[in-house]
Amino acid sequence: MTVQLYNTATRRKEDFTPLDPAGRSVGMYVCGPTVYDLIHIGNARPQVVFDTLYRLLKARYQTVTYVRNITDVEDKIIARAKERGISIRDLTDETIAQYHRDVDDLGCLTPEVEPRATDHISQMIALIERLIARGHAYAAERHVLFDVPSWPNYGTFSNRTRDEQIDGARVEVAPYKRDPADFVLWKPAEAAEQGWDSPWGFGRPGWHIECSAMSSQYLGENFDIHGGGMDLIFPHHQNEVAQSCCGNPGSDFARYWVHNGYVMSEGEKMSKSIGNFYTVRELLDAFPGEALRLVLLKTQYRQPLDFSKAKLREAKAELDRLYGVLRDAPIKDGTGAVSDGVMAALSDDLNTPEALAELHKLRDKPADLKASAYMLGLLQQEPVAWFHGGAGATGPDVAEIEALIDERVAAKQAKDFARADEIRDSLKARGVVLEDKPGGVTDWRRD
Ligand SMILES: [Zn+2]
Repeated sequence: MTVQLYNTATRRKEDFTPLDPAGRSVGMYVCGPTVYDLIHIGNARPQVVFDTLYRLLKARYQTVTYVRNITDVEDKIIARAKERGISIRDLTDETIAQYHRDVDDLGCLTPEVEPRATDHISQMIALIERLIARGHAYAAERHVLFDVPSWPNYGTFSNRTRDEQIDGARVEVAPYKRDPADFVLWKPAEAAEQGWDSPWGFGRPGWHIECSAMSSQYLGENFDIHGGGMDLIFPHHQNEVAQSCCGNPGSDFARYWVHNGYVMSEGEKMSKSIGNFYTVRELLDAFPGEALRLVLLKTQYRQPLDFSKAKLREAKAELDRLYGVLRDAPIKDGTGAVSDGVMAALSDDLNTPEALAELHKLRDKPADLKASAYMLGLLQQEPVAWFHGGAGATGPDVAEIEALIDERVAAKQAKDFARADEIRDSLKARGVVLEDKPGGVTDWRRD
């Protein structure tokens, strides 16, 4: 079964073949977060989409190197640290820890490499020097700019005309730019700000050069897959292509470009003023991360996704049903097989809605259900942990619930059905649902 991916660079769905002539190893680079604040639901989508692609590639190829960077130098970070009166390092360390907690709760596997931009400044400077030497960049007023007209292919990748390139830059044209489309590779910093010494004075890198330097460091100048949100196609990815192709002679940079679609929330564009702006953390305080992951997988990754809390509740109920199958038919780990239907759906440009439909067909094969769900990052908890624990478990604790269940069993034996019902109803009011099973066993779950 060949993996097919829609390639933004060629604007069509293509068979994926790795660069490795032996066909064994695959490299994937995904643009990670700029770490100044909690991630929101829009940032969560690429995390889950590319984690699912990573799982598919790992099932197909011997070695997969997944590189997901962290942008820890940026104007927004500097401004936020100043606002909060803390050091940049304290802000970025705190935000990275929160980000890792969020992506763990979303069921994302850990990438092989998570490079921090500030650990790769010398590689960025070296790349900028090569661009200058090859006539594709110039220094002016302590800045270094990429010379867009020096590369006739600029705009081809992102399918942007010259006018759109300039509009897209959305900046006032700085006097030191030779051409309005030229973009910053290096910019000056004040001595008290975050910065590094460079041949062009004390300063810091532009955002785009970070990804060109870090991707080639870990995956080489040519590699297989580059991913990110659609909003990154222009200018970020267009500029990465220009930098890498011009700075590394003979390089075509990434071969397959995979972009996830936009996220709306409650039917509208996300906005703090409308009240439909959710951080992942606030959702995870009230819902299990797995339910959020399921909502994100219910829409094929290229389509726009409309998130809502109602969908999150439905996803939680759907997982209750699937975990119910696993609870009622305990299985030995490692005894199931991934279904061909799930593999075929995922291999078809990561058709997750179809893969989920295939998953539901496996309800009578619980071992296969669990093995197949792994491909989607779902159903890997112990059913008891799913039903009893969970994020936002604000109701009674396990010991109290079990004591009340025992009391109810005793009440039933004493034919005190009023008391038995009272216990069931009071627990329900506190978010705990009792389920009487054959043999006098009572299961429970948090609603
Ligand atoms: Zn990037």
